[in-house]
Amino acid sequence: MSPIFPSLKCHLFEPSKKIIWTIVGKHHEYWIDLDLGYCSCDDYYFRTLSGKGMCYHLDFIKEKTNSRVAMVHFSDSEYYDFVKSVVNDNFLMIRNEKIGLG
Ligand SMILES: [Zn+2]
Repeated sequence: MSPIFPSLKCHLFEPSKKIIWTIVGKHHEYWIDLDLGYCSCDDYYFRTLSGKGMCYHLDFIKEKTNSRVAMVHFSDSEYYDFVKSVVNDNFLMIRNEKIGLG
């Protein structure tokens, strides 16, 4: 079986064991926090937050958590910068899309 998402990555922060998942999709990179049930995709904003169910990525990663996934280790001191850069990327991405649509 070939992987559907060869670009699924698990970012493990130590010693807290906090995990951030990222999926590189067709157009964007999404980041997912399973503990918070959070995903950065549009589907999450429009579907999950309005109570209509999980986005595709959250479902997908829940199924994959027991299988072998590329794991990248970080220290907790890098967590803030990591999240900040991902959030910033997404902010720019969403803002650019809005501008593009307008
Ligand atoms: Zn998602």
